[in-house]
Amino acid sequence: MWTDQLPKTTSLAEVNEILVTCRLCPRLVAWREEVAHTKRRAYRDWTYWGRPIPGFGDPNARVLVVGLAPAAHGGNRTGRVFTGDASGDFLFAALYRAGFANQPTSVMRGDGLELKNMYMAAACRCAPPDNKPTPQEIITCRPYLIKEMSLLKNLRGVVALGKIGFDTILAVYRSLGINAGRPAFGHNQFYSLGEGLPWLLASYHPSQQNTQTGRLTPAMFDAVWQRAVSLLNEDV
Ligand code: SF4
Repeated sequence: MWTDQLPKTTSLAEVNEILVTCRLCPRLVAWREEVAHTKRRAYRDWTYWGRPIPGFGDPNARVLVVGLAPAAHGGNRTGRVFTGDASGDFLFAALYRAGFANQPTSVMRGDGLELKNMYMAAACRCAPPDNKPTPQEIITCRPYLIKEMSLLKNLRGVVALGKIGFDTILAVYRSLGINAGRPAFGHNQFYSLGEGLPWLLASYHPSQQNTQTGRLTPAMFDAVWQRAVSLLNEDV
């Protein structure tokens, strides 16, 4: 179903090998490396990752989670998606409650975290200034996501965290010639995009801007993951 845009890769591990060497977006390459060099005072003893963030999780996953982009001192520091920042704390606590993660925290690579039945990726794989990738940077990065989706053979659904992740998934479908329409983004909204295609579930992004203001509460977030579990159970 999915167009093969990284033709020589046959596994998620191979995609990640190529991805972490990517330098296609000059603005993002410069930023991720500058942040990795200057660091934040609290992390001055860290060797920052400073590269694109690979996908993470269960290669047999039935659910794909798509976020926005790594945080400058989170994923760009630790080398793992949603790891080492407040968004990740909020996210993995919820995934643990829902049974998708084996522990409620995500601190660093090698901390024992495992995802069950879930793979995690992002619309843009390099930390952007002000957490804002440009539309062109998202387009440039999209082939990695398409390839990951093609390699997740058991994929049943996608949970998009935030409007940009949501729009990116719709754009992936459109780029493959699938008429995804122009559905409106809404928290905990379910979208069926066609017979036999992975469903789409939207959530507010677990950014501090949302979680500290109460726009996204733990209960609201739990409802999304419970819905994902229900959808998977319907589909056994
Ligand atoms: Fe490469 Fe994506 Fe990073 Fe751009 S954002 S440099 S396409 S990994």
